[in-house]
Amino acid sequence: MSVFFRGMSAGETVALTEAMMRTGEILDLGDLPGPKVDKHSTGGVGDKTSLILGPLAAACGVCVPMISGRGLGHTGGTLDKLESIPGFRVGLSLAEFRDLLRECRIGLIGQTPEIAPADRRLYALRDVTATVESLPLIAASIMSKKMAEGIDALVLDVKTGDGAFLPSFEQSKALAEAMVQIGRGMGKQVAALITDMEQPLGRSVGNALEVAECVETLKGRGPKDLESLSLELAAWMLRLGGLESSLEGGRRKVRDALQSGAGLRKFQEVIDRQGGDPRVCDDVSLLPKARETVDLRAERDGRVARIACRTVGHAAMLLGAGRETVDSRIDPAVGLVLHKKVGELVIQGERLITLHVNDRRRLDQALALLKDAVKVLPEAPPATALIRAVLD
Ligand code: URA
Repeated sequence: MSVFFRGMSAGETVALTEAMMRTGEILDLGDLPGPKVDKHSTGGVGDKTSLILGPLAAACGVCVPMISGRGLGHTGGTLDKLESIPGFRVGLSLAEFRDLLRECRIGLIGQTPEIAPADRRLYALRDVTATVESLPLIAASIMSKKMAEGIDALVLDVKTGDGAFLPSFEQSKALAEAMVQIGRGMGKQVAALITDMEQPLGRSVGNALEVAECVETLKGRGPKDLESLSLELAAWMLRLGGLESSLEGGRRKVRDALQSGAGLRKFQEVIDRQGGDPRVCDDVSLLPKARETVDLRAERDGRVARIACRTVGHAAMLLGAGRETVDSRIDPAVGLVLHKKVGELVIQGERLITLHVNDRRRLDQALALLKDAVKVLPEAPPATALIRAVLD
């Protein structure tokens, strides 16, 4: 409570993070070849870059020990997306994880009880005392778990805008600065990109739909915003890991891995090794599919001026793609696909959004939210940059 009101100095935040990390196991991956680099995103809507940049970076020689979380509320989670792949196991032991990293250079698992156990207790306390939203406590919470992964470097994707955990740019920047400071204070290479979450990333929101979009992106056929952010974050992973001395070199290498199909093959390999059906990379129709689709159509001509990001995430949650509370069950097949993004031309009657539905009980509520979420005006606003700032 005192920290919530008074804040903490940089030194205090590093000390807290280190102490939290040391309450659990700290992976020592020193015997594995290659730099160990991860990416962490503060979460958003349609934010699926992990499934693209992880395989791309691994295909370029980075060792990627990715320990991810689940979705809550309007935001999605990497583990839920991965579990929509039939058979995929995210619950590996740390020993299995280490073997996987040795053989495949990438592993995608969930938080284990051995990693920073103090964070779980502190978070539970913060939750019941309304002190979750304290920047140093958020930064220490995130970084204590990431630093326990035994990584040399970390790229942070701090989201900003309507769909972000912290919507204001100033707050996102302050969180990014706090996390970069902690990482550097603990002797790691860290950079943060502050990226736009004013509209969903890519076109799909919902677990299996997002996996399908990642496969398409790894085939070079994905939405441009998703592709460019994934490539940029992967390029930073190469640069911070020391595999490339310049960001430009990193960009070239990850683009080659995309174009050659090496990233897709790495994704297929890690799916196979974690018990999933690797054929989903050849045929996305093997992913869970909703029983029906419902289209939301444009009521007028114009350009899409705004897609209220948090509301879209909320609508996807109502359809069953996300969790209302930590123990809600999710449906991997449902969600929505945005046919139009901000700035795109729309003709009356054209599809704006397709909803993938299994349970109609909250369909009307979701449709009403989405109808309000998409604003079509005669003119589009000036385009905002996807990468708003970089802290290097
Ligand atoms: N995510 C975390 O892991 N911890 C926080 O405190 C907030 C978001």
